[in-house]
Amino acid sequence: MGANARLIDELRRTRTLAATELRELLLTMDAADEEALFSAAREVRRETVGDVVYLRGLIEFTNYCRNDCLYCGIRRSNARACRYRLSDEQILACCDQGHELGLRTFVLQGGEDSGFGDDHICALVAAIKERHPDCAVTLSIGEKSRESYARYFAAGADRYLLRHETSNPAHYRRLHPPELTIENRKRCLDDLRDIGYQVGCGIMVGSPYQTVDNVVEDLLYMRDFEPHMVGIGPFVPHGDTPFAHMPAGTLEDTLRLLAIVRLMLPEVLLPATTALGTIDPTGREKGIRAGANVMMPSLTPLDVRGDYLLYDGKVGVRDQAADVMRDLEERVEAAGCGVDLGRGDHPGFGDASA
Ligand code: SAH
Repeated sequence: MGANARLIDELRRTRTLAATELRELLLTMDAADEEALFSAAREVRRETVGDVVYLRGLIEFTNYCRNDCLYCGIRRSNARACRYRLSDEQILACCDQGHELGLRTFVLQGGEDSGFGDDHICALVAAIKERHPDCAVTLSIGEKSRESYARYFAAGADRYLLRHETSNPAHYRRLHPPELTIENRKRCLDDLRDIGYQVGCGIMVGSPYQTVDNVVEDLLYMRDFEPHMVGIGPFVPHGDTPFAHMPAGTLEDTLRLLAIVRLMLPEVLLPATTALGTIDPTGREKGIRAGANVMMPSLTPLDVRGDYLLYDGKVGVRDQAADVMRDLEERVEAAGCGVDLGRGDHPGFGDASA
């Protein structure tokens, strides 16, 4: 038995631990603990949401960004980024292709691009929902006003991904320019939840200056916020950013956090991220074995996919969507789960298409 068997058992039963206990667990976990943790995460997933992995079609529709986050390859001061914006026709064609492949969630992700105003985003969301009424639309386009979020929701958007990045204000300031604040980030998340979205927050594991206390704070923030989705992937440096020489987050730390989040939020939609597949060739399978249950194949057109580079070494930038889907399906099966091509709403939400 591992040194922390009791804490892992308590986390599983009560879905939480005190800050000091989480800190202890993260700092002293041994190999036996890790096995117990992953196995508990798999069991909790099986009992609550089943051994299925949902696939979401990701459309990276613009890499223009007005922000200057220090970690991100598409930050505005990266003059070497090759900027692109997809046309409405291209975005709709990505959805058509994804629908043909069986996908029933489309995630529109991009930089904070003023080239896409609210009217434009609303028109796009409405057009996608009209062509594919059986699909969910997820937006991941950063910090907006409550009014803007409400308009996208009224246009038909179902879900919103906005990682909080770190809940500690001092840490947040070291990762972002002064005009970006954790207070506004959290305000956005609160507004999104109030409006009625299924909401995702999350962090990068091993981001520069991150301490174990920061991670504990993040876990407790997520426990209290109770998001429907949690995005957790390793930080991976990008050569044209101020963090070019910072070390990447580790596989081990990422897997442990995925498993802990599964135990804290049993029903959560938890992706095995592309960044995890980037730091380890079988990272995503390992993520599923640690409790993840979502993967996001890219539908972004191949001629620009390699320009949506938040970090170096991103996998899958040259693969056709159909091949990516097959590849992911194999990985899911290798990890002992099956792919589910349904909308995959959070269990707390009715399946609107049913
Ligand atoms: N502009 C949108 C969508 C952004 S990118 C927004 O602000 O939400 C999506 C996520 O990629 C970010 O939230 C961040 O956590 C992650 N990311 C950015 N740069 C990264 C890097 N260098 N390594 C790993 N993840 C990164």
